[in-house]
Amino acid sequence: KTTSARCAVAGSWTTAPEPVPVERRGRMSEQLAVPPGMVDELVEEALVWCSQHGLVVGDKNHPRSGKAPGVGLLHAPFSLLPMSFPRFYWDQALELAPLFNELVDRVSLDGEFLQQSLARTKQVDLFTKKLLDIHSEMMELNKKEEIRLGLTRSDYMVDGATDMLLQVELNTISTSSNGLACGVSELHRNLIRMHEREIGLDQASIVGNTAITQHAEALARAWAEYNNPSAVVLVVVQQEERTLAAIEAVGELRSDGTLMVNGWPVALVYFRAGYSPNDYPSEAEWRARSLIERSSAIKCPSISYHLVGTKKIQQELAKENVLERFLDNKDDIERVRQCFAGLWSLENDSIVMSAIESPELFVLKPQREGGGNNIYGDNLRETLVRLRNDGGNELAAYILMQRIFPPASPCYLVREGTWAKENAVSEFGIFGAYLRNKDQVIINDQCGYLMRTKAATINEGGVVTGYAFLNSIFLT
Ligand code: ADP
Ligand code: MG
Ligand code: MG
Repeated sequence: KTTSARCAVAGSWTTAPEPVPVERRGRMSEQLAVPPGMVDELVEEALVWCSQHGLVVGDKNHPRSGKAPGVGLLHAPFSLLPMSFPRFYWDQALELAPLFNELVDRVSLDGEFLQQSLARTKQVDLFTKKLLDIHSEMMELNKKEEIRLGLTRSDYMVDGATDMLLQVELNTISTSSNGLACGVSELHRNLIRMHEREIGLDQASIVGNTAITQHAEALARAWAEYNNPSAVVLVVVQQEERTLAAIEAVGELRSDGTLMVNGWPVALVYFRAGYSPNDYPSEAEWRARSLIERSSAIKCPSISYHLVGTKKIQQELAKENVLERFLDNKDDIERVRQCFAGLWSLENDSIVMSAIESPELFVLKPQREGGGNNIYGDNLRETLVRLRNDGGNELAAYILMQRIFPPASPCYLVREGTWAKENAVSEFGIFGAYLRNKDQVIINDQCGYLMRTKAATINEGGVVTGYAFLNSIFLT
């Protein structure tokens, strides 16, 4: 496969990428053209639409934002018009969604694999160690999760040099932005419908986004599988909402394994928090996580599903003959492998040397979620040189990944009421849902998408973190 061949000799990457063959040029994505002189008008309409339809986020500059409902809100950052996006990649990503759902489930059942793969990381990364400690506690108890629910999002970029769809990462916890993603496709549909004459496009080509309804439906189906009509769904969110510490204070386990919170049996615990060390300021939060894990409540995600989503496991799965342990069908394995970018453990000193030599071709990733944690460029070089000189195990906290360079194209990006024309690149994710009760797979489906666009000069992504802009897909 071209990509792995290129990656294997990463040190020699500095040669210019091969040009995209003519027959594949139809696979480029770019923002739909904005009619001349219409930018200001469209931006204003879009801003009004956002306010009227709740396409808003908390305004970090407002002192009462997040403290008082309805106060300190700002329109979500968005791209003025959708990306035209080749059906070729869209179909490929949809096809992969159920395969990744199943892969997560299979890998989650192999406790030894998770423990072994993360054993070195654990020695130098306290957060991962804490998660693994709960996981090994469950292995000792021989704890089985009969009903398993995964709400996933597999993120991709198109690599400009090889024209291939490559996976950036697979998220298994707190897969967010489904509400905003649905909102922005409605915003774009509306703009294109209102200006059909000037823009000359059919709004029906904007892919409708079902992310919210399908994920909500999966939560409801999981609740039904728990089969206790008086049981509740517990949503774990961040500070100033309801935290793990609150659950530690009021939660208890009955002898039959039922998790009780404020006198209610809990059918399902849905984590919208718990993916970051900040969500565990004290031991109380860890005790809450362990309490939940020991209970019979369905966890979205379980500790195993959470661990499967680590960057380290992503890298281990990309090693030769590892997918074969978890998937049976050869075609499926090939399809999954096709979207793997170059991924390396830092035990491999030759790749560390290549990255020190050409840091612009790599991304250095710790075991963290939520954006803003990766290391690039000069910073990457300095970090690797320092960790290598230290001679300890610190390198094991990270993985190295081939840097993907998606083709850039001009785009109108709107933030805080003003627009800028930027040369921009996009990353898109397909949401997935997987629900299983013992041997019965109840849901295994793709559930809509998240399209994010950012200036090509920016390393990181993420809408909430302030790097990226919401976008939608206009299929071509
Ligand atoms: P997180 O779990 O924090 O979202 P990601 O692996 O998705 O971590 O990285 C965050 C962002 O960094 C991505 O949204 C993307 O913009 C950028 N990024 C990550 N990996 C790569 C890569 N291999 N090539 C180019 N950009 C990347
Ligand atoms: Mg992530
Ligand atoms: Mg990400």
